[in-house]
Amino acid sequence: MEEPIEFSVCGYGISAQLKISWSIDNLGRRFFGCKNHGSLLHRACRFFNWFDPPMTPRARVVLLRVLKRIKENEVQRRKERLCWFIIFVVCVVMIWFV
Ligand SMILES: [Zn+2]
Repeated sequence: MEEPIEFSVCGYGISAQLKISWSIDNLGRRFFGCKNHGSLLHRACRFFNWFDPPMTPRARVVLLRVLKRIKENEVQRRKERLCWFIIFVVCVVMIWFV
C-alpha cells in the first residue's frame, strides 16, 4: 500500500495545511489546502489535495444514520427541557398566586 503524503507544497512553494472537511459527502476526510486559498494576495492559488481516501458507500450510510440519531436525540432533549420548564413555571405560579 502506498504511504500517505505527510506534507504538501502548492505551486507557489507554500506548504499546504492539513484541514478537515465538514461536508456531508466527505465528513472528517482530511485534505491539504493552501492557506492562501481565496486570499487577495494569493488569489490564483487553488491548491487542493485529498489526504485521506474517500469514504466507502457503506461508511457513508452508517455515518448519516448516526448523525440522524444524534439530531433526533437533540430534538427529544429539547422537548424534555421545554416540558420541565413548563412544569417549573406552573409550580412557581401555584406557589406565588394560589
Ligand atoms: Zn498556494
